[in-house]
Amino acid sequence: MSNYPDLQLYIGGAWRKTAETLPVINPADESVIGAVPIASTQDLDAALEAAERGFAIWRKTSPARRAEIIRKAASLLRERIDEIALDITREHGKPLQQARLEVIRGAEFFEWDAGEAQRTYGRVIPSEPGIRYVVHHQPIGTVAAFSPWNFPLSQPARKIAGALAAGCSIIIKASEETPAGCLHIARAFHDAGLPAGVLNLVFGVPAQISEYLIPQEPVRLIAFTGSTAVGKRLTGLAAQYAKPVLMELGGHAPVIVCDDADPVKAGISSAIRKVRNAGQVCTSPTRFFVHEKLYKPFTDAFLERARLVKTGNGLDEGTEMGPVANHRRIEALEALVADAVSKGAKLLIGGERSGNRGYFYPPTVLSDVPANARVMREEPFGPLAVINPVPSLEDAIEKANGVPFGLAAYAFTNSAANVDQITNDLEAGNVSINTLEASVAETPFGGVKESGFGREGGAEGIMHYMVVKTVSHRMA
Ligand code: NAD
Repeated sequence: MSNYPDLQLYIGGAWRKTAETLPVINPADESVIGAVPIASTQDLDAALEAAERGFAIWRKTSPARRAEIIRKAASLLRERIDEIALDITREHGKPLQQARLEVIRGAEFFEWDAGEAQRTYGRVIPSEPGIRYVVHHQPIGTVAAFSPWNFPLSQPARKIAGALAAGCSIIIKASEETPAGCLHIARAFHDAGLPAGVLNLVFGVPAQISEYLIPQEPVRLIAFTGSTAVGKRLTGLAAQYAKPVLMELGGHAPVIVCDDADPVKAGISSAIRKVRNAGQVCTSPTRFFVHEKLYKPFTDAFLERARLVKTGNGLDEGTEMGPVANHRRIEALEALVADAVSKGAKLLIGGERSGNRGYFYPPTVLSDVPANARVMREEPFGPLAVINPVPSLEDAIEKANGVPFGLAAYAFTNSAANVDQITNDLEAGNVSINTLEASVAETPFGGVKESGFGREGGAEGIMHYMVVKTVSHRMA
């Protein structure tokens, strides 16, 4: 078994150690597995200088060459999948099989955006004779990006892919709790021949780094994935410097089960999806609004499948759900359950931490949860589902929309009329019907309302990393 990596910063094409470090904890047994370096102000200054130099080279590198290097890095990630997945499982806890899928998904983000690098078409606007109007897309400049701990590799991959494909340089602060995923991305790009300074990786005290980087002149875009509270703070800071943002924030995904759906099939697939990544996904299905006619068979099927979930160390064969990634999730989940039960909700399964070593929390289902319970408005970000009966599709849509979030939303139905109503009326950036997959590399992903601003992936994603330049040219 390979060792967990020697974590370092990656600045200007070189690896750097720091005087100060923080421990990295394996959530399955709470052991210390590594030491993550804490960047100093001097390190951040070096990253800014390197990123400026990197941008000067990269913006003049042809899209075809950029695509070639990005694809090479993606293929190295695929080649190194065994080692990378092992490190992701050790630092995050998810089952090895899910860590492998994450590496593949990250590679797909790079491969998709590599293609987009060559499709950032401008246009010629019809004009009177003697003058020509041409619209160009150009890279915005250096990006300051911040990625969270729930997908150690695929979260930073989204941002690095968009920035590099567009011709930008990037300074990314990946998660201190799960740093190896992004470290492997930096290694892959280093080995793929990316010019020095185009990609810079730092770790440290999140607020100190964002407050230092965002105001700096070379930084032209702030890209963040994480909680709505932090996203609002960073958006406010960016606004003070009139800088644009790309924000992928919290969700609280509703699932509507219409009266014509197959309740058993929907219940089984919902339970399986709920425990993926131990529910720590911004698109995780959480608030189930089930037509009252189907409420019992749906809930029975969900519970039966949830009881079969094998929870354990992600490295063990057959584990379907690992621990949650940190102790904060256990506290948050226990508090949400206690609040809901005190307000009259029924706890059908789970609800308490399992054991006292490792951050294990079982699949948990609450039913008949009143609207004033906190869990109806706060994202649990864990393996917790709420199942409530509803009398009609209209009622389900109203309840689904009754939160400040609008990221992913799901429905089960075979009626074209229902699909039409759901498509028109659900407030969400991504609506999925008869599937609980919210997005793939080729589809744009992002939220409405407090779930954020902008899209990643698809044809739309790369455009956030570009600016429009209109050239008016009068012929002499
Ligand atoms: P948190 O709000 O403290 O942190 C969320 C993320 O933002 C972390 O990655 C953290 O390192 C980073 N962060 C925090 N303060 C920052 C700052 N000032 N500048 C830059 N980055 C900063 O919460 P947490 O306990 O880590 O996670 C809890 C909540 O975050 C969850 O309930 C969930 O709603 C949300 N979250 C969302 C996603 C997502 O994919 N949208 C991912 C992880 C966490």
